[in-house]
Amino acid sequence: MQNIVVIGAGQAGAALTAKLRELGYAGTLTLVGSEPEPPYQRPPLSKAYLLGEMEKDRLYLRPREFYAEHQIDLLTGSEAVEIDRPAQVVQVAGRDLPYDALALTTGSRARGLPAAVGGDLDGVVTVRTLADVDAMAPRFRDGARVLIVGGGYIGLEAAAVAAKQGLKVTLVEMADRILCRVAASQTADYFRALHTAHGVDIREGVGLERLTGKSAVTGAELSDGSMLEVDFVIVGIGILPEDRLAAAAGIETDSGILVNSFGQTSDPAIWAAGDCTLFPFRGQPTRLESVQNAIDQAEAVAANILGAETAYAPKPWFWSDQYDVKLQIAGLNRGYDRVVTRQGARDGTESHWYYRAEQLLAVDAMNDPRAYMVGKRLIDAGRTADPGAVADPGVELKTLLSG
Ligand code: ADP
Repeated sequence: MQNIVVIGAGQAGAALTAKLRELGYAGTLTLVGSEPEPPYQRPPLSKAYLLGEMEKDRLYLRPREFYAEHQIDLLTGSEAVEIDRPAQVVQVAGRDLPYDALALTTGSRARGLPAAVGGDLDGVVTVRTLADVDAMAPRFRDGARVLIVGGGYIGLEAAAVAAKQGLKVTLVEMADRILCRVAASQTADYFRALHTAHGVDIREGVGLERLTGKSAVTGAELSDGSMLEVDFVIVGIGILPEDRLAAAAGIETDSGILVNSFGQTSDPAIWAAGDCTLFPFRGQPTRLESVQNAIDQAEAVAANILGAETAYAPKPWFWSDQYDVKLQIAGLNRGYDRVVTRQGARDGTESHWYYRAEQLLAVDAMNDPRAYMVGKRLIDAGRTADPGAVADPGVELKTLLSG
């Protein structure tokens, strides 16, 4: 193994290349990214960074010198356009890069609104890249009217930032409630109440008919027939795994690049890690949109490229910040059939515990880091907790660990 190329310079690509060096790989190593920036953290973009509470420098995962010091040839602003699998060459910005192993850490892209409903109007933005957020920041002026389309975590986080900065915020969610893809109704109820208390107008079961305006958006027509005047629109309707380069090269994809538990694609010389992958987890092809998965899967893949043959099993965690609430999520609630609520010690603190049969799957903890930690330890160890004890605030959390 003398030549490794990694396509995608996000959290997974950065972790993968650093791990290869840490494990002693001494050959050529190239990290290719289409964005102009070196690898940075994406989660703060819709939170502290958008709010102006975090400096750009703190977003970068490593100082630029790190890459040179570790002989990682970082090609920013460079797009990989084609993989020639028989020749083991990837074409990047007019150059042919040969590889012995190729790793795809291409991440995902924001789903946009179709042009047919006004998605191409000026002032319609998504929150995915640093450039997106730098471009929209000047629009966050006191009194500006913003429509947020989509009530997932991205839409809600953007709503919190906008409300805190004095904007007039309307959020539409076409499903019958916010957070329908990712959380139980109990968690949705908590965040609906929080946003409403901060003056956000949340409209559930209401989709967008179309955006109006000549070149820039000025209004929105909603599915309940109402009309809104807006200054700009934030679209938070999910992300699409970036699997186009792989698919065009004939690698197996299915809304995500299919990999085995080692992170290997249908071509044994090509590997993938992070958001862009569909990997086996608890017997199902699984795609995770999280930093945890990007880093841990990338590190496992780095070891496997060098011959380790370690199967990757995620220990999922996520978080969201909205106003003064920190939500921490341990585990994956897929397939839950029961949710148990535990009130926290202080006002506004609570946690929701997801079960399938008697097995604890996941915990959503709002301003309750201890509930998160206890839940995470149980879930990571494959253990459970008695639902009656969880629901009883008289039972101390730590006794759940010894039970
Ligand atoms: P994200 O990670 O971007 O927050 P999610 O998939 O978790 O993505 O949430 C996106 C939300 O957007 C979903 O709840 C979905 O129902 C909603 N949505 C999608 N399209 C529309 C639309 N046209 N109008 C309103 N809501 C939409």
